[in-house]
Amino acid sequence: MSSADPVLERFAAGRSFVAAPVPRVVFGPGAVDQLPAEVGRLGWSRVLVLSTPGQRRLGERVAGLLGDRAAGVHAGAVQHVPVGSIAAAVAALRGADACLAVGGGSTIGLAKAVARDAGVPYLAVPTTYSGSEMTPVWGVTSDGVKTTGRSDAVRASTVVYDPQLTTGLPVATSVTSGLNAVAHAAEALYAPDATPLTDAMAASATEAMLAALPRLVEDPADAAARGAALTAAWLCGCCLAATTMALHHKLCHTLGGAFGLPHAETHAALFPYSLAFNLPAAPFAHRTLAAALSSDAPATALWQLARRLGAPTALAALGLSAADVPEIVATVLGSPYANPRPLTGDRLTALLEAAVAGVDPAALAAG
Ligand code: NAD
Repeated sequence: MSSADPVLERFAAGRSFVAAPVPRVVFGPGAVDQLPAEVGRLGWSRVLVLSTPGQRRLGERVAGLLGDRAAGVHAGAVQHVPVGSIAAAVAALRGADACLAVGGGSTIGLAKAVARDAGVPYLAVPTTYSGSEMTPVWGVTSDGVKTTGRSDAVRASTVVYDPQLTTGLPVATSVTSGLNAVAHAAEALYAPDATPLTDAMAASATEAMLAALPRLVEDPADAAARGAALTAAWLCGCCLAATTMALHHKLCHTLGGAFGLPHAETHAALFPYSLAFNLPAAPFAHRTLAAALSSDAPATALWQLARRLGAPTALAALGLSAADVPEIVATVLGSPYANPRPLTGDRLTALLEAAVAGVDPAALAAG
């Protein structure tokens, strides 16, 4: 072990850690063609394909690949997994012994809810960079309140990543989803349960995703950039699965759950502010992100990059107003959790007011 290696150096003194298992992954352009073999390997005989209404045709293509093993397509996935959508998907099982979720975090979220409620396993074919397919985290929305939890019962049996399925992901969604992924990796860098594995994955995935996104904006069909972005998304998802997220994810959860803000866009707009606030107390994350962004001020560099890529950079653009800030501060401070930099009402208010207005996050580093 070289003491010059920044990742291993952190663990050289024998710091303790636990490394969690991850699902089997089949990755590659055209990997979708391996679905029949993967389903056969799992021993499933009747597989219900899940998708959003907008991705029904892709769901039908996948069902066609499964032939006799397909139990139909249920195109009822919607964002944040409302309880009604779970009941409809469970009813659509009609004897199916497994599900196949093809889509983004919303579709995979529905498969997780079916796994939890009906005990039916699933295979995931992700088409965004959300990373949900790698995690044991489920989320369900009832009466406008989103509840989340962790359970091994909601882990995917296998994940098939095919970058060719992501070429149609609109540029704007590619950018926000990619920044959502980078946020998983960045918070893993200062997580209390980081491991040498998550450090290495987070560093390489951050660099790869931030390099791929400008290429995708230039040419959404760039096969190499799509491959790099999806590989990075996988690693970011592994980081999310294995570590405890902090302030940034807590804030996004509150903004999505209580204020109905869209998931990936909220991550993209808020992330530079969360980083500007936390990095002064997270030197390893600061060094890693500074290297990935070639800047001594990584939060501002990320904010500038997000603007250049066309991502929303003010929460006001997503419908939040300064008048909402006190309620968010009260909610976040009401349920304490680990964060590298201690939170106070004043600091959190300053962070949120800056993020609502979309001003340069640099000022948050002090104070
Ligand atoms: P999404 O799944 O809601 O997808 C956004 C839209 O893009 C949908 O209309 C979808 O049909 C469409 N789409 C997806 N892939 C496409 C493609 N390749 N081409 C064209 N259109 C495509 O968005 P998301 O950001 O992937 O997921 C957000 C949800 O996932 C949220 O509910 C969030 O809470 C959850 N999530 C959960 C975890 C977890 O670990 N549990 C992690 C990340 C996100």
